[in-house]
Amino acid sequence: MTDEIRKLKEWIDQSSNIVFFGGAGVSTESNIPDFRSVDGLYNQQYDYPPETILSHTFFMRNPEEFYRFYKDKMLVLDARPNKAHLALAKWEQEGKLKAVITQNIDGLHQAAGSRTVYELHGSVHRNYCMKCGKFFKPEYIRDCEGVPRCDACGGMIKPDVVLYEEGLDNDTIAGAVTAISQADVLIIGGTSLVVYPAAGLIDYYRGNKLVLVNKSSTPRDKAADLIINGKIGEVFSQLV
Ligand code: NAD
Repeated sequence: MTDEIRKLKEWIDQSSNIVFFGGAGVSTESNIPDFRSVDGLYNQQYDYPPETILSHTFFMRNPEEFYRFYKDKMLVLDARPNKAHLALAKWEQEGKLKAVITQNIDGLHQAAGSRTVYELHGSVHRNYCMKCGKFFKPEYIRDCEGVPRCDACGGMIKPDVVLYEEGLDNDTIAGAVTAISQADVLIIGGTSLVVYPAAGLIDYYRGNKLVLVNKSSTPRDKAADLIINGKIGEVFSQLV
């Protein structure tokens, strides 16, 4: 165990008010690609850049192309939680961790057993007809040919994920801000911290134990009290 990991273990052992803020890097060890790593989706070739495909305008104008990308790259239904998800769920069960705030849409924190999860960017597990509001499971989306349509009214179905140009849910932001502002230890992991407004939420932290666990450096490294460069699943498995 390195000195940094030993320090983090000490802080975790002493705290009963840990909050975790994470991103796509938390799920790469579950084989879901992130956006900005070298093997991430932004470094693969598509007809349009992923930021364009994943925008509200593109979804409305070009749903066929949107769903081709979404089903191929974003809708990963056979992924399993990894050691990072499992450690966070365990800390919550032990009364040490108060909330997970995630930019991920894959539902793996809940699959690991976490209960208080603020999904800033929504979830692939919820899907609604844009016309009548009927709810659909992700398997329905996966199994539809082309653009998924409502079996009740024929309306187009939209995944409950926040696309570029769309706002975040107010209640989710409020819950995340409260958790962060009251946290004793804030662990940030597996995120490039460049997607706003999500990344800005960490500014609500008032404590002096801000920990960054990431494979690469981030624009917020200077603000951290402790930096651990490594794979988050490997790091967390040493802490439980
Ligand atoms: P990002 O791709 O911008 O950054 C990922 C960061 O995680 C990088 O800094 C990378 O170095 C680091 N990383 C990768 N694997 C890691 C590991 N095993 N351990 C530690 N660090 C690791 O992702 P982001 O910051 O979350 O922002 C991009 C957007 O991507 C988010 O809005 C999110 O909704 C979306 N997204 C979600 C998923 C998912 O749900 N699993 C997958 C891809 C993208």
